[in-house]
Amino acid sequence: MQSTDLDAFPCSLPPDQHSPTMVALIRQAVTWLERWHEEAGQRSPLPGPVALPPVAPAPWGLDATRLMEELDPVVRGSYNPWHPGAMAHLDPPPNPASVVGELICAWLNNNMLAEELSPLLSQLERRLLRWIAQRLGLGDDAGGIMASGGTVCTITALVTARHQRGLDEQQACLYASADCHNSLAKALRVMGLPAANLRLVPTDATGRLDPHRLDQALARETEPILAVVATAGTTIRGAVDPIGPIADICRRRGLWLHVDGAIGAVCGLGQRHQGRVAHMGRADSLTVNPQKWLGIAKTSAMVLLRQPRGLVDTFATPLSYMEPARVAHGGDCGLQGTRPAEVLKLWLGLRQLGQHGIDQLLDGALHRARVLRQALSPLPLVMLSGDLHIVCFRPGATGSSEAWSRHTREQLLDQGLMLSRPLYRGHRYLKAVLGNPFTGVEQIATVVDTVSASLSR
Ligand SMILES: *Cc1c(COP(=O)(O)O)cnc(C)c1O
Repeated sequence: MQSTDLDAFPCSLPPDQHSPTMVALIRQAVTWLERWHEEAGQRSPLPGPVALPPVAPAPWGLDATRLMEELDPVVRGSYNPWHPGAMAHLDPPPNPASVVGELICAWLNNNMLAEELSPLLSQLERRLLRWIAQRLGLGDDAGGIMASGGTVCTITALVTARHQRGLDEQQACLYASADCHNSLAKALRVMGLPAANLRLVPTDATGRLDPHRLDQALARETEPILAVVATAGTTIRGAVDPIGPIADICRRRGLWLHVDGAIGAVCGLGQRHQGRVAHMGRADSLTVNPQKWLGIAKTSAMVLLRQPRGLVDTFATPLSYMEPARVAHGGDCGLQGTRPAEVLKLWLGLRQLGQHGIDQLLDGALHRARVLRQALSPLPLVMLSGDLHIVCFRPGATGSSEAWSRHTREQLLDQGLMLSRPLYRGHRYLKAVLGNPFTGVEQIATVVDTVSASLSR
């Protein structure tokens, strides 16, 4: 076709949608990002209300400068993970290389649905996930797939477990600790199973599933059992279930073991903290969330299987409109169809960190948690913690933890410190997650002083 034909074609894209403008736009965005980044420490982790920008497209498209102006309130109104006082949740500042990986991923716009749309990136995902699975002890055949967050990964694993065990048509049940994540309840809903089929096993005083109680409950069970879930890092206090004894029970009874390692599994990538998640590699399936502790830009999550073939057996439909896959299409291995190549930012982030960087991230968070626990220990508090980097506490005296937690959280926010306020067994707690590498002794000391003052009121 000649260019004159294109010119005459009324629907051709305006030329400024093409790449020279894109590069200029990225340059401008980087300049703005630099400025926002310099100011991040001065803004609060949790900003006050900011007016929304217009949402509908303007009659004429905006140029780069106007676009950046419109982005400004969006940035100012957003949760600010870069602030050293951001310690409320498992949402740390992103690893820099993973942010660059996210940009390049969007620019490539490959599709993990099918190999022909992501030829190298599909291989990279398989190779990296196999390396991680082997490193976490799942064995030589292990591998898996990335999906959009830990919830989707756990649902993927449990649907696979049910299919592999031939329970698709049955009212199967699931066993987990009373402190398990709400994604298990969602999984039952997705699988069309009654909520009561999530059988909750009591925890011991340290928040860990009690294997003896599990074994007793399994012995009495009358319905088929889809899987047992051990949590490697509970959301409230970071407790790690005793995976070894649970794995023994599962082996003896021939049951599928899923480990929800959304928080703690990354300890297995460190050189000094593997013992905190001991025996995790005995799982049949495992959820790992590098978006949490490792700070890979969201979303970054994977489900790993001892026998990854189970994914294809469960989810292949097959994709008849694609060239045949050399190994397997991503779209045949999980719930999602079209999917970005999130492996790129994970791979780049891990390469940037190196083994030493991974160890430092883990060491730093665990050290900060230790410092906070020690500083809080003389105070009259009920403290919940575990082997990881999460610390929860409330006043030991009877009285409303609701009013105390709300007031103290406000006071902390006024000083640029954001803690969360989980409800756990009828009491409100304040919860600190120490995974933000920018959080220092200064922030921890202010938390302790503020909490101490709140108790003497
Ligand atoms: C965060 C979390 C999940 C779910 O992960 P998402 O990425 O938020 O979907 C599952 N289990 C535990 C223990 C978690 O803390």
